Formats: sequence, C-alpha cells, structure tokens
Amino acid sequence: MTTMPAAFLGHGSPMNTLEHNRYTEAWAEFGRSVPRPRAILAISAHWYVNASAVTSSNNPRVIHDFYGFPQELFDFDYPAPGSNELAKEVVDLVQPTWVGLDDDSWGIDHGTWSVLAHAFPDADVPVVQLSIDASKPFEYHQQLGAQLAPLADEGVLIVASGNIVHNLRAINWGATDQGYDWAQRFDDDARTLMVNKPSALSELLAHDDFALSVPTPDHFLPLAYVAGIADARSATTEVLVEGCTMGSLSMTSYVVRGGADD
Ligand code: ZN
Repeated sequence: MTTMPAAFLGHGSPMNTLEHNRYTEAWAEFGRSVPRPRAILAISAHWYVNASAVTSSNNPRVIHDFYGFPQELFDFDYPAPGSNELAKEVVDLVQPTWVGLDDDSWGIDHGTWSVLAHAFPDADVPVVQLSIDASKPFEYHQQLGAQLAPLADEGVLIVASGNIVHNLRAINWGATDQGYDWAQRFDDDARTLMVNKPSALSELLAHDDFALSVPTPDHFLPLAYVAGIADARSATTEVLVEGCTMGSLSMTSYVVRGGADD
C-alpha cells in the first residue's frame, strides 16, 4: 500500500470554512494530491482536554465550538462517518501510552472541519479525532505523534490542525495578509526546524518570540505530532503554503511525504 502523507494545516478563522483564498486553495490541492485514505485521524487544537482520547462513534457529532460568527457557519454540516475500528486501532497502537475511547463527549470540531471542508469536500472519508492532553509536556505530544506514524502504511491520513502563531489578543483585523515582525520571525524559525530537523522542534520553546506567538499551547501542539511523525519516518517535510494574517496568526502549513517504506 502507498504510504500516506501527514499534514499540519494552519486553520485560522472559522470563516475559512466558507471562504476561498490561497490557504483554502492549498488545502484543496492537498486533498486532491493524496491517494484516497481509508480514514482520517484528525488532531485539532480545539479538543484540548486533560487526557488523550479518540472519538469512537461511527456517527460523530459535528460541533460548532465558537460564537459570534454568521448563522451560515452554525448551519455548516460535515457529515463524515466516524470509525470505531480506527479508534480501537489507535488505542492498541500507542500502548503503553493510554488513549481513551470517547463515545459521545466530543465529535468533529471546527478545527477539523474547517480544513476538511476544502481538502475532502465530499465528507465521505471516515474521520476520527484525537484530543490534545493539556496536562502533558511538549515531548509527550511529539512522542505520541511518532507512535502514530505507522498508520501511514495502513491507509490512514493524519491531519493536524492548529496555527504556529496564534495570538488572538494581538489580532489586527486590518492586516489581512501580514504578520507582526515577531510573528514572522517565529514562523520563519519554525519552518527552518520543520524542514531541516523536526526532531528539534522543542527548541522553539526557548525562542525569544515564543511567549507572544504561543500565549496558550493549544494551537501550537498539533505541530508537535507532525514533527514526531516526520522524525519517526525520516521523511521529508515540505511547506504546503505559508504566510501570516491579521498580524498575529500564522497560516503556514506542512506536508510530510514518504519515509520508512519508500
Ligand atoms: Zn482555531
């Protein structure tokens, strides 16, 4: 079987679900470029809880986890099936790391469906979400990503969705296609590590611009999973699309292709 790529997609505003811009075009192009997956394992910044868990329902709920956006976005549906089979596979694969099966407390949230709406618009590939354990250090997430890497040979596409720079307090709504100097610097240095040495991604934790770029870890941590996968597979990491928007959001996205069994 062909080795599936893995991706980190910078999702930005929930409005990207409905809009078309160079970022959403890149996500769509990514979806067209991959072999049809058996299932998608999605790691979203928006399921940030005190445990690692996977959605185990074959009919996951579509969660509209935001407020203050147009009704059109609350009406948006992404009726992909789940996969109890993949959920159990993940639990077994990562042992002795504990991952719980979550039948109905969560489902598919907007971190996942805002990007899949473009990458897999037909919503016909089963989706399982993996939560991000807020109680764990950075290394745990990178290691868990590495443990998940073999799924690429089982027809499973891993899509992590967050933002490398995500500071909502500093947002400048007028700066449509620009980042503050500190945001651009952090994004550039993240790219250098992701492309050349993903195993060393934790060096960013000591970066001078870390505090402003990553005021909370939720949107940053999905990248740790993809860095772990890239390292485990000795695979090449490519920039899918890059740039900052609204001053303090990075939209930069990565694809990890090939590795291990090539
Ligand atoms: Zn978000």
